[in-house]
Order: sequence, then structure tokens, then C-alpha cells
Amino acid sequence: MVIVLDGASFTISWMTSNVFKSVNWFSKYYWSFMYVNEIPTTPSVLMTMFTGKRYVEHRVWWFDSIEYDELNKFRFVWDEAEEESLKVIVSPIPFCRWPYYKNFALLGEKSWKLTFPSHKDDIIKVTEKLHKLMRLNVIKPWNLFIAYYILPDRLYHKNKEPVESFDELIELIKVYDYAFGLAKDLLNVAKPRKWLVVSDHSYICPDEFVENRPPKRKTVHIPEALSITNLPPAPKRPIEVYYWIKRCLHIA
Ligand SMILES: [Zn+2]
Repeated sequence: MVIVLDGASFTISWMTSNVFKSVNWFSKYYWSFMYVNEIPTTPSVLMTMFTGKRYVEHRVWWFDSIEYDELNKFRFVWDEAEEESLKVIVSPIPFCRWPYYKNFALLGEKSWKLTFPSHKDDIIKVTEKLHKLMRLNVIKPWNLFIAYYILPDRLYHKNKEPVESFDELIELIKVYDYAFGLAKDLLNVAKPRKWLVVSDHSYICPDEFVENRPPKRKTVHIPEALSITNLPPAPKRPIEVYYWIKRCLHIA
């Protein structure tokens, strides 16, 4: 099982791991700083993790870099698993504007609404909905389950102003505890033998850039990500996620 927590920083997660309960639960497993040697955007990094191709090969770096129909040009790790008659479930992943998912029951929810909530206040509501769906889907039989959560990324992006006070910082960091809590809960429900929690990039709030930028550019991605697993070694580069999955599934 792979759980993606979009935008989770190794530094923030690790440094708060003795403060917040849900993050702390993960401390007994294998952690690694993951350096993102790709363009640190969600589509770019997730494409590398799940196709085993570097950015120079897949050329996807933004949500409009590729159309949904063009995704079938790629052989994803779950396609390889299915070729070996393994069962796969993939929750909605925003490689492009129209989220990709596979064998994941949406039960009437719209996949794009679950990955692109339009308003800051909807983010937690939408995530709760998504998590409910995860819990329902995860009890079906599978060999590979990929879960993607938009937190903590989306709350950074939607924050109207840069973080200016310690209290605001703590508020934002609490989202980590919430996000890790979802991952922990899903692991408790699914009880996978092998699991990996991984992120795709993290953030800085560069005050000096802020003044002339539109709000959504008040945060900038940085190539600092994390991986945590019960099956070491924990991936140190996005492409190693691909090989970690193949190793778990015993597919060449
Ligand atoms: Zn991201």
C-alpha cells in the first residue's frame, strides 16, 4: 500500500513527530528524507513515482501538460501489476486536470471535486469525504492500493497570506497531524503487510517574493519530501518509489 500525503515536508513532519500524536505514531518505522530530483510539482513527481520514468522522459510537470486521454501512452506500475494478474486499486490522482483513478468506487462523488476543492473551507470537508471512500474501498481485495490525499498541500496554497506569526504556523502544522491521522487510520483499517507513506515536495513562504505576486503564488514548492515505511530501505528519490512497489509485488 502506498499513501501519498501531498506536500508533506520531511523537516516539519520529523520535527513535530514528538509533538503531534498521529505523526508520532509513525516514528517507530523507517523514515527518509526524499530529495526530489524532478520538477517539484505534483504531476511531475507522481508521474515519476508511478511510471518509473524521469521528467525528461514523461515531460509532465503541470496539470495541463497532458490530457487525460494521453495518459494511456504510459505503462503505470499498476498496469504492470495487472499484467501479473494482481488486483489494483488507485484513488483519484491529479496527473492532469481530470483525475486518474482505477477500480476505485466513487459512490456518486466527482473525482475532480475530491482532488481540486474550489474553496479553502471545502478542503477538510472534501478530505473527510475522500477518506470515507478510502475506508470503503480498502476493504475490497487488492494486492496494490494507492491512496492520494491533497493534504497538507492544499491548505498551504489556499492560505491567503503568508504565515506571519508563530500561532499561524502552529495552525498550519496541525494539518500535518490531521493528514498523518488519516494515513494512520487507513493503515489500521487495511492492515497491509507492506506500506509506504510518501510526499511529493514541500514549501517555503518566501516573504521577499510575496508583495507582487498573486495569492496562489505566495508559497513556492521546494524539492524536499519524505518517505516512511515498514519495509526498508525507504525511498530517497521519487523513482525509488516505483522500485519499492515492484519489490513488494515481486514483479520484475
Ligand atoms: Zn503536490
